[in-house]
Amino acid sequence: MTDAIAGAAIAATAATWPATPLGAHPDKPGDRAAFGFTIGTRIPGRHGRTGVIHTPHGDIATPAFVPVATQATMKGVLPEQMRDLGAQCLLANAFHLFERPGEDVLDEAGGLGRFMNWGGPTYTDSGGFQVLSLGAGFKKTLAMDVQGMKSDDVIAKGKERLAFVDEDGVTFKSPLNGAKKRFSAEISMGIQHKIGADIMFAFDELTTLMNTRQYQEKSVERTFRWAKRCVAEHERLTQTRLGKPYQALFGVVQGANYEDLRHLAAREIASLDFDGFGIGGAIEKRILGDTCRWICDELPENKPRHVLGIAAIDDIFAAVENGGDTFDCVAPAREARNGAIYTRTGRWNIKRAALKHDFRPLDPTCDCYTCTHYTRAYLNHLVHTREMTASTLATIHNERFFVKLLGDIRDAIDGGYFPEFRDETLARFYGGSDRVAPGTHANSGAADSQ
Ligand SMILES: [Zn+2]
Repeated sequence: MTDAIAGAAIAATAATWPATPLGAHPDKPGDRAAFGFTIGTRIPGRHGRTGVIHTPHGDIATPAFVPVATQATMKGVLPEQMRDLGAQCLLANAFHLFERPGEDVLDEAGGLGRFMNWGGPTYTDSGGFQVLSLGAGFKKTLAMDVQGMKSDDVIAKGKERLAFVDEDGVTFKSPLNGAKKRFSAEISMGIQHKIGADIMFAFDELTTLMNTRQYQEKSVERTFRWAKRCVAEHERLTQTRLGKPYQALFGVVQGANYEDLRHLAAREIASLDFDGFGIGGAIEKRILGDTCRWICDELPENKPRHVLGIAAIDDIFAAVENGGDTFDCVAPAREARNGAIYTRTGRWNIKRAALKHDFRPLDPTCDCYTCTHYTRAYLNHLVHTREMTASTLATIHNERFFVKLLGDIRDAIDGGYFPEFRDETLARFYGGSDRVAPGTHANSGAADSQ
């Protein structure tokens, strides 16, 4: 593919963003009408659909992939490059930005987007995942059998419990300096308002699949009480922080792998005045699609749904089909930095000795900047010499892979061929000659730090 063709193909996907945020007026609260969701085409018989999320910083065509810029940056890749590869929005971590540089710095800068020179829509997660995973140290999507292992005291091997939950919030030891700190619904809302992302998440309790049923029930109710406090505090901050664009608040549905608890949690969260919803908590891989379906059975159709932190290609298809609109995931960037490359025929490592003399692009069918300008042999050399450009070029490719995958999924839903597209894509990816060994899906805890 020539540069001109590749450039045109990618430019066609770059979204247009308003020069100034919509719905922000001096001395007035942000106009809530600047946020909304329009449904496009539905997958017949399923909750999945295409649509558009409207935010003060521009639109997001859904289903969409949301790259994770943990520390208000993509590691090794500029925001301009993310836009060029078709990224529509970015997600940063409230907890990390609270730790450093502190939310006041982002507020002073004019918000997350302006701070990091990203003109489009942004998300922050609540910080709950980071704070609470200090508790047990487990990753989010588990592909293991957890029957018979349930205990509220169990923690991951080699981890020390650093977070303790009570009715009001969570006390934890900062992983940065060991200082004792506190998170609650009100604290999370205050931090996220100052960070200023277009879409924020309510502070929820993350449990693990190791917790007992009794604990999961208590936790769902506690998350509901925290959700009500988040809505109240969000309303207060919106009315008092004048001159800012409206920030949308998504409620998070927990309930682990229990069908009845997921239904109950979704009904409760849907009863509150949220702008959208997050599908959160630990999810067992084999029932990921079912879990999304149980929740979306209860959620209003006219509000967007974000699936927090999934990573594997098959998980994305299952979540899209069952009603997820947006998906954040650190895996493409994190794995790129380890040399793992996503292609249509599977995931493989650029470090392999056989690639030293391979002058083909990473993926001959890919239109990204890396594939249209560089070879496998060159990236192989950069990885072995530990050059920073190895991470940059590999990250651009992997992020483009996921952004384009979701774009192709949108086309498939709109074109009425989603089931065929899903089956072909999964068969080629997991059955390709380059595939990695089974059971090593990239399901690292996604809202985890990059
Ligand atoms: Zn590429």
